[in-house]
Amino acid sequence: MYRELAEVYPYAHPELDFENPFQLLVATVLSAQTTDLRVNQTTPALFAKYPTPEDLAAADPEEVEDILRPTGFFRAKTRSVMGLSKALAEEFGGEVPGRLEDLVKLPGVGRKTAFVVLGNAFGRPGITVDTHFMRLVRRWKWTEATEPEKIEAEMSALFPKRDWTMLSHYVIFHGRRICHARKPACGACPVAELCPAYGEGETDPEKAKKLLKYEKGGFPGQRLKPPQSYLDHGGIPAPPLGKE
Ligand code: SF4
Repeated sequence: MYRELAEVYPYAHPELDFENPFQLLVATVLSAQTTDLRVNQTTPALFAKYPTPEDLAAADPEEVEDILRPTGFFRAKTRSVMGLSKALAEEFGGEVPGRLEDLVKLPGVGRKTAFVVLGNAFGRPGITVDTHFMRLVRRWKWTEATEPEKIEAEMSALFPKRDWTMLSHYVIFHGRRICHARKPACGACPVAELCPAYGEGETDPEKAKKLLKYEKGGFPGQRLKPPQSYLDHGGIPAPPLGKE
């Protein structure tokens, strides 16, 4: 299944727009309880006004709340991103640390966020157990575990370290495009023959095709600035805020 997914999504990538580790860290914290698209539409204004941890730590919280409002839970998120910016400025010289044990000490940063940052901004392999990853690996009977940390441990025993980051991207891409929570598009799924949960969703090929999302359904993706490999595979950039 891993090899098959690698062929289906050779262009898989993090779906948050970012230009440096600080931007990825903040965007990942903001992505809780909302879509990456919404975060991507919100962060350009945030980083234009507060490009560094020092800037964001010294911001007026009400102004940050105004910018973050579209991402939901904006008061808590403002506290988190300002708190982690302050910690970065005071304890790490304004740089995002590249070690798990340092990252998880930052306010609002758990293992999932830390692995996203390590895997995608520092090239250090990490497994990102988000809601899609949990649902799919359980559907596929790769694990029976329900707690994210147990799933992470079992998957890291199953796959070589070098594959961890791409494994996370492939599985999350598949969960967002085809193997949805409520209506998996089984009839249009490239791993159907290998899947023990085939039939949990729509099996009629025509009806299943209509359930596909993002580039698999011919729609825009989540990144306003997607990587070239995504565009080369027919991907369409997401529209900016207010233009959806
Ligand atoms: S066959 Fe259905 S349940 Fe299995 S991976 Fe594909 S969409 Fe998901």
